[in-house]
Amino acid sequence: MTVSSQATTTGIVLVSRPTGWPDHTTFDQVTEVLPELGDGEVRVRNEFVSVDPYMRGRMNLGRSYIPPFELGEIMTGGAVGHVVESRSDALPVGTPVLHNFGWRTVAQGPAAQFRPVERLDGVPLSAYLGILGTTGFTAYLGLTEIAPLRPGDRVFISGAAGAVGSTAGQIARLLGASEVLGSVGTAEKADRIIERYGFDRAIVYRDAPIREQLPKAAPDGIDIYFDNVGGDHLTAALDVFNDLGRAALCGAISEMNGDGPASGPDNTANIVTRSLTLRGFTVGRFMEFFPGFIEKMGPWLRNGDVVFDETVAPGIGEAVDAFLGMMRGANTGKMVVRILEDD
Ligand code: NAP
Repeated sequence: MTVSSQATTTGIVLVSRPTGWPDHTTFDQVTEVLPELGDGEVRVRNEFVSVDPYMRGRMNLGRSYIPPFELGEIMTGGAVGHVVESRSDALPVGTPVLHNFGWRTVAQGPAAQFRPVERLDGVPLSAYLGILGTTGFTAYLGLTEIAPLRPGDRVFISGAAGAVGSTAGQIARLLGASEVLGSVGTAEKADRIIERYGFDRAIVYRDAPIREQLPKAAPDGIDIYFDNVGGDHLTAALDVFNDLGRAALCGAISEMNGDGPASGPDNTANIVTRSLTLRGFTVGRFMEFFPGFIEKMGPWLRNGDVVFDETVAPGIGEAVDAFLGMMRGANTGKMVVRILEDD
């Protein structure tokens, strides 16, 4: 056993269930003393923790695909770090690991709850929270299994500068899309998705209603819609779908922080008359496809066929602002929090 001096963890707890937008009063920062390690347990110093849109849903009570966060407990979620103390032969000190203990500086528990990962040359460990993890997998799954892309398809992706969207745009191109169109919140992001991620065109949805802009940007219609936004974007996509079009309904971020009823499509008849297929999904139900994703993504990354960006917030004390900023569009690529030495 290796003894470390890290006997406390600092983390962010949820203190109330928000209506509409969360703010700083929704959370609190706490420091907890950690118990001695039990047999088979490890202690992990986090390097990065993930902030993700689905976490907003977990702040609410009610039916979902994942249980609500408990009030007063440190927010769980994806994180990566390295083992600093171990009572498990499976995970010696120094092993880099991925886990779900969330917004905290130090995590500990049974070794089985930590997955060892490899440190790759030139790739930050945080990639396991993004391009090599859930968000990369989400983009891949959406365009291969949920709304399978066929060569020549015209593709529209919302949230196109975010973690999932920026990856989906590049994968769409690699799978043979004839045209990749994205929607984003700012002109800077519009330039970026074209120059860096290879989209053909971009719509800035804040400039005018997406329903007005999309038909002009997609005069030949769309065959695939990768929906990260829901609401107005889904309605606009239904207007311009070609016959037999397919949608991967990945997220509905536009509906997450409202405090009243969300606006829904008024054109669902198009689903019938154009023989569309709209399929929702959460990646957790499709983990059998994860190895196939890694087989593809590994070489794509190594060859530079797929690039990725991260927006990194410094320190556990920034986790709340990182989360709120991401929900409002402060990020390009994956938003993560870097845990600092003195956190
Ligand atoms: P992200 O796209 O990196 O960050 C969220 C982005 O959403 C923001 O940067 C912002 O960009 C955009 N946004 C916020 N409000 C919006 C609005 N009202 N209309 C249009 N865009 C808005 O986050 P991510 O982790 O990649 O997640 C993207 C989507 O995928 C989310 O809906 C998430 O819930 C979903 N997701 C689903 C699964 C699954 O298993 N189904 C897994 C992972 C993620 P702008 O500046 O462009 O507005």
